[in-house]
Amino acid sequence: MAGSEAAALVAEKGGIAVVFEQGERPYGKIEDGLPRWHEKLRIKEYERIDENLSHESVYFVPKTEVGGDVSFEELRSLGFNAIILANGAWRDRRLPVEGVEAYVGKGLLYQNALVHWFNHEHEPGYDGPRYEIPEGAIVVGGGLASVDVVKILSLVTHARALEKAGHAPNLIAMEQKGIAAWCEREGIPLPEVELPTLYYRRSMEEMPLASPPDDATERQLEKVRGARVKIMERVMDRYRVKFVGSRVPVAPFVEEERLAGLVFRKTEGEGRAMKEVPGSEEEVRAPLVISSIGSIPLPIVGLPMKGELYDFADWETGEVSGMEGVFGLGNVLTGKGNIKASRQNAAEVTAAVFDAYLDDEPFERLHEAAREAAEPVVAKAMEGTPLERDQRTPIRELVQGRWKAIGYSDYPTWAEAHRAP
Ligand SMILES: Cc1cc2nc3c(=O)[nH]c(=O)nc-3n(C[C@H](O)[C@H](O)[C@H](O)COP(=O)(O)OP(=O)(O)OC[C@H]3O[C@@H](n4cnc5c(N)ncnc54)[C@H](O)[C@@H]3O)c2cc1C
Repeated sequence: MAGSEAAALVAEKGGIAVVFEQGERPYGKIEDGLPRWHEKLRIKEYERIDENLSHESVYFVPKTEVGGDVSFEELRSLGFNAIILANGAWRDRRLPVEGVEAYVGKGLLYQNALVHWFNHEHEPGYDGPRYEIPEGAIVVGGGLASVDVVKILSLVTHARALEKAGHAPNLIAMEQKGIAAWCEREGIPLPEVELPTLYYRRSMEEMPLASPPDDATERQLEKVRGARVKIMERVMDRYRVKFVGSRVPVAPFVEEERLAGLVFRKTEGEGRAMKEVPGSEEEVRAPLVISSIGSIPLPIVGLPMKGELYDFADWETGEVSGMEGVFGLGNVLTGKGNIKASRQNAAEVTAAVFDAYLDDEPFERLHEAAREAAEPVVAKAMEGTPLERDQRTPIRELVQGRWKAIGYSDYPTWAEAHRAP
């Protein structure tokens, strides 16, 4: 999404953009991250991205991983006026519990894998990993994506119970209406299901589901806190999920070489004053633990890292340290799916977050935000001396070489042949 906006902007300004995409399709988190119940939104987003990439001055190069099929060093050596990294955040932040990594696939699952499975498992030809979602699973998280994850668990387990009882559940309709309301409308008794639980290290009032403006008054802060509680309570009610706040996972809880839950410790205090309460540990049994504590960019050989992110010299422009002309854009920069453009006042933010759940408006703002952020980068790149024809030869050779290897001719033909199911 961010990359396609930047590419379209370059083309509109009279430049040429080459878009390297590792997959067959360019939809990124819209296809693989956003839960599939956003049906209409996804189609709208696909069309928007298709339109951006169909421009005759945008050269789309699919199935080409930067850092794999083309090294970052090679890209840098080709003389592009600017390189914009819009490769998103696809690595789950590791659950900070010692020893827990040994149980991935044995009681522990990460968010990106779960959502990918949920979005694709019903498609003909799906050959990725298959997961069995037990009732009573737990999610460690607290942000918007983790709320989607706990909803997925509840919808999947309720749909399965309904199926077992001989009904034909419609998961998308259940999401739109709310689980109990859908059952009532259909005249079906609500099945008895052990509900999934979201564990968050802080209180419900502190969930990052709505953000106050930077210079918020006490009243605005109070309003945002209230909005967070309202959002979560609504989610619990509509989607039949549980919430436990003020708990941090501190140790794996293992039985028969499987993760059988986590040991949580209580926390107290708010903001920076939050601290763990010694001696407050409790074992929480769960047949499956999902970690949903954020996604970060995947490292690319040759790109400097600072902690878990790329080393950005300037967070406003997204310029990478020591690499003139290399910029980050979109999730790769923020490391989260944010609704930044709407951070004007608390009331607006509250509306934006509700919308994120009920409506597709915020995505419009994400596009605008991506464009706004790309604007100065593209302007700077366009100030550079345009490459002469012979200077463009290595770029042309790379692009045409990849196209030939892949069997690519033009965007509309490719998009038609590789439609998302
Ligand atoms: C569960 C969930 C719910 C969400 N809900 C909302 C919401 O309600 N409201 C909202 O505003 N936002 C939401 N978001 C966030 C939104 O989906 C993302 O912010 C947005 O789609 C990210 O766009 P992007 O272009 O930055 O990154 P991506 O969509 O991740 O695109 C990056 C692209 O780069 C490609 N790529 C990666 N690495 C390489 C490489 N090395 N070489 C070549 N190509 C590469 C990827 O294949 C991908 O196509 C949600 C996200 C998730 C996961």
